[in-house]
Amino acid sequence: MTDISNDELVIETTELVKMYGPHVALEGLNLKLESGAIGILGPNGAGKSTFFKCILGLITTTSGQGKVLGYDIKTQGDLIRSKIGYMPEYDSLDPGLTALDQVRYSGELIGMNPAHATQRAHEVLEYVGLKDQRYRKTGTFSTGMKQAAKLACALIHDPEILICDEPTNGLDQRSRQFMLDTLRNTVEQGNRTVLMSGHVMDDIQEVCDSIVMIYKGKIVVHSRIEELARQVDEEIEISVWGGSSNMQNSLESRGLSVRRLGRIIRIKVESEDTISIILECAVESGVQIRRMGEYEPDLEDIFLLIMDKLGAEVKKTSDLMTSEHTGGTNYE
Ligand code: ADP
Repeated sequence: MTDISNDELVIETTELVKMYGPHVALEGLNLKLESGAIGILGPNGAGKSTFFKCILGLITTTSGQGKVLGYDIKTQGDLIRSKIGYMPEYDSLDPGLTALDQVRYSGELIGMNPAHATQRAHEVLEYVGLKDQRYRKTGTFSTGMKQAAKLACALIHDPEILICDEPTNGLDQRSRQFMLDTLRNTVEQGNRTVLMSGHVMDDIQEVCDSIVMIYKGKIVVHSRIEELARQVDEEIEISVWGGSSNMQNSLESRGLSVRRLGRIIRIKVESEDTISIILECAVESGVQIRRMGEYEPDLEDIFLLIMDKLGAEVKKTSDLMTSEHTGGTNYE
């Protein structure tokens, strides 16, 4: 990995700890984020929102340090919030307000003067595709339009960093694509940093250059997406005809790690002999190998493999949203 000078970092934390009473929500996070699009991933309760609240200076940290755009998260929260736009997951819109008023008010709330806020509200509503709907009350909006309005609120003050919590949640294909394109444009043309949390791998892959994965309050992966594949074991994928479970047993009896999805079997490459062992097993169990090749995992698969390595019981990425919450007492 290349060394980066601290000036290029937009977010930096050192041994950042956040405890809610006795519960450790963030366990000494050391993170250096450069500008760009970063996916923040992790199961429910992993600590993503706590991390966002810490870097927004909204909650007091227990120990450790953090800087956002060079400002201290402990003492300069106001300055930080004037440079970060936050699009929450929950419905933060007032259904009785028009989109224009809603967006303008969110600007005024962070100290913009009314004339400037109004001018910017028109601009950002056009940017998020709501130009024609700007005089409609948000209570009449579809989910896609509500998400776009929330994005406009987050962009009103032209922030340098945009934090989006589950921005594509509940969107149909068309609105989802528009949201992803808008976020990507914000990074590429607007030259802004986007932190996007989510659990739909395709969405993260479309917008982000790198991912940070948080699990039980710790960073377990921080990598550029194209480098992620190197973090998982190399596998050979075969497609077999006849007796695929016999084939699986035969491979396992030779000590190979196997993942099987019907007739598709993926075998971890242990040594140069792995291919000849696979061929021997095919003969032994009387199956035909119809196809054999190196398996190239997609982000979803890489993710599941990483979770598997961590011992987390996750069968598909939507499970990431339903793992246990510790619950208990609410602390600030
Ligand atoms: P995520 O955003 O990844 O779902 P959170 O940051 O919301 O995770 O939560 C991290 C952990 O801290 C969870 O175990 C959660 O139950 C706990 N937690 C979050 N907020 C509070 C709070 N205000 N009081 C007590 N525990 C909390």
